[in-house]
Amino acid sequence: MLDRPIEEFLRDRGLRATPQRVLVVEALMDASHPDVETIFAYAQARQSTMSLATVYNVLDKLRAAGVVMVLDFHGRRYYDLRVESHDHVRCRNCGRLDDILRDPNTRLIRPAAHPWVIEDQSLVWQGLCPVCQNGYSHA
Ligand SMILES: [Zn+2]
Repeated sequence: MLDRPIEEFLRDRGLRATPQRVLVVEALMDASHPDVETIFAYAQARQSTMSLATVYNVLDKLRAAGVVMVLDFHGRRYYDLRVESHDHVRCRNCGRLDDILRDPNTRLIRPAAHPWVIEDQSLVWQGLCPVCQNGYSHA
């Protein structure tokens, strides 16, 4: 997914390329839209001192630097290195998430990576409702 070394990719975004950050980005490239447990398992298998707290910390930093995007699906969070707005397709059997891309020329929509059988679609826009925009909480 990246066209250059992870260290360079991080430095271009103003981040120091610590071994922990490099490892988390590697985990993000290894799996399609991993959750934090998947990232943690990948990182810990390669660096046994890596803690879950460190993974969360690194993900927060990457997110603040615009390197990673968080997806909320059915109450679970998944992490995505593709940060520009795009859609996803989810397998109803295993839960795997893949990207759906729009071809700018034909305006056709196609799964980015694999030959999916698309069965259904729904579109959920995300934003802030009027109550939350004003900093109130729902009673
Ligand atoms: Zn994605």
